[in-house]
Amino acid sequence: MLAPFTAGWQSTDLHPLVIERSEGSYVYDINGKKYIDALAGLWCTALGGNEPRLIKAATEQLNKLPFYHSFWNRTTKPSLDLANEILSMFTAREMGKVFFTNSGSEANDSQVKLVWYYNNALGRPNKKKFIARSKSYHGSTLIAASLSGLPALHQKFDLPAPFVLHTDCPHYWRFRLPDETEEEFSTRLANNLENLILKEGPETVAAFIAEPVMGAGGVILPPKTYFDKIQAILKKYDILLIADEVITAFGRLGTMFGCDMYGIKPDLVSIAKALSSAYMPIGAILVSPEITDVIYSQSNKLGSFAHGFTYSGHPVSCAVAIETLKIYNERNIIEHVNKIAPRFQEGIKAFSGSPIVGEIRGLGLILGTEFVDNKSPNDPFPAEWGVGSIFGAECEKRGMLIRVAGDSIMLSPPLIMTPNEVEEIISKFGDALKATE
Ligand code: PLP
Repeated sequence: MLAPFTAGWQSTDLHPLVIERSEGSYVYDINGKKYIDALAGLWCTALGGNEPRLIKAATEQLNKLPFYHSFWNRTTKPSLDLANEILSMFTAREMGKVFFTNSGSEANDSQVKLVWYYNNALGRPNKKKFIARSKSYHGSTLIAASLSGLPALHQKFDLPAPFVLHTDCPHYWRFRLPDETEEEFSTRLANNLENLILKEGPETVAAFIAEPVMGAGGVILPPKTYFDKIQAILKKYDILLIADEVITAFGRLGTMFGCDMYGIKPDLVSIAKALSSAYMPIGAILVSPEITDVIYSQSNKLGSFAHGFTYSGHPVSCAVAIETLKIYNERNIIEHVNKIAPRFQEGIKAFSGSPIVGEIRGLGLILGTEFVDNKSPNDPFPAEWGVGSIFGAECEKRGMLIRVAGDSIMLSPPLIMTPNEVEEIISKFGDALKATE
């Protein structure tokens, strides 16, 4: 098998960890070893394993209608119902329509095509550039990888595409100037964004894309006033704002959407992952009424929005997603996250004094830790020491799976975690840290 994001072409020869089954917040490998899944798969199995209602929803839909497409004014009931449910749950501002994809990457690729189509409809053929941020992750298809701000996604792939520009990563601890407050840091970044827009020409810049909290880049929270200042600049130059909520939607931060947490009023939103608790592949974009109005009114002139996938709005994925959203509502998932998150955050942050820890940061049920020497962002450990990987291996030895990226490690456990499972993660984290020091 040629595995994603894995070194070596025949990666199965590298003896990968083979996971066989799951149960609640735990997964088991083929040798029967049990792991607490402190990353919820890949930031996605919000309801954990074995949720019988999701299995039933999939089975019933498979029996009734395993597939029909949503092209050319044909569709299925689950896709219509899910679109309406998503629109009713997103309250940061009014949204107009939902377009379905199969993944977060496809959602972000679709965003770019939709924005181009919109600007063509408005007679602004030059307004096509996208601004994203260093260290962001928006997926790995050609356009999504271009938008992402991680060098590994660009090097050797001749990316980013020329219409994509990158601006500052808003990581206060790492990039602040001496004596700079969080607010001053946000002002400087907003000024840098404005200067980039002016340099490129505002008439050429179509959209800005941002994760409310950066995930794969290391769990980076926006500094105080950041999104207020960025949104003011975007408004000034008539630039659309895309919120990439592929990780942050559906409770991860303790609010239904990341936009609610930071007062973000986006024109477009990308979602995936927890939309179906990852039981079936599905992604979606939410489109503002202003954009849908333009597209509808111009489509006679421009032709149809000729974009979509065989599996856009797949009825089984949609049926599972509808049931997932019902469970979030019925079980008050936001309330649950807010009940267990303080202990999760404070328990792990108590290890901030470790000599190898630079920063532990997080919110709700997402958390990142950065290992550095001398507790300074300017003193990384030599890459060949692989401190992050050593910590990851120590966690795995103790039966806990996390995400490692260089000397950043990340946690994003299932939202259904019990207080005992939170304690287990804290204890395993502490033991792995001691062993790594
Ligand atoms: N956007 C964000 C913020 C993500 O974290 C990810 C995946 O981790 C994606 C997009 C890409 O989603 P997918 O892997 O489903 O294509």
